[in-house]
This record gives sequence, structure tokens and C-alpha cells, in this order.
Amino acid sequence: MAFDIYGNKLRRGYCEVHPDVKSPYPCYYCLLDAEYEHEREPELEWEPTDEEICAGTGHKYDGDDEEGGRCYCGKKRYPAGGPQFEKFDHAKQIDDSRRLVKKIMENENIEFERMDGK
Ligand SMILES: [Zn+2]
Ligand SMILES: [Zn+2]
Repeated sequence: MAFDIYGNKLRRGYCEVHPDVKSPYPCYYCLLDAEYEHEREPELEWEPTDEEICAGTGHKYDGDDEEGGRCYCGKKRYPAGGPQFEKFDHAKQIDDSRRLVKKIMENENIEFERMDGK
């Protein structure tokens, strides 16, 4: 006597994983599941490469090489020195952070000012 995976008696010609499906194991749904598992597996073990991380950040300017500005992985090109507005924002952010840290060191009870300047 055969049993399905739930411990119930398995009817002849039915799938042991899908006892309601009148098709011997592996049935159509088993194959679908297997295909799904197969597609999902790489994602579970997925470790982003530098390139994928770069893509995930929208290819932010990361410096210059001999041909000009580039993102981390080098797929996105920028003018040498990078986009000016990004450089400016970056510098401003560091500046704001330094100012804030300085204020905190001077007085721990300061109120946090908005960092976006609005
Ligand atoms: Zn099945
Ligand atoms: Zn990139």
C-alpha cells in the first residue's frame, strides 16, 4: 500500500505530493513546484557582486579613471570629476554632518536641525 506525503492512503495513479491530482508522481504541479524551486534557489544563495551593488545604487559616481568619471563597476560613465551637483551635495552633506557633530560635542542638549536645509 502506498501513502501520500501526508500519511494518507494513496490512490493508485494519484500523485503522492498532490493526492487530489489524478496523475502519477511527479504530477504537473510537482513539475511546476520543481521549476519554481529551481528558479528561486539562486536567489536564496544570491550574493551581490560589486557590479550588482553598483547597479542597485543607480551607478553613483565613484571616481575617475584614464577615460573620465565612472561608477564603481565602471559601466556608467561621467564627465571627469563627476556630475557637479552630486559632488556639491556630497560635500554639503559632510559639511552638515561635521557641523552637527561639533554642535553635539559643544552641547549634548541641542535640537537636531533639519539636514536638508528646508
Ligand atoms: Zn504532484
Ligand atoms: Zn556601476
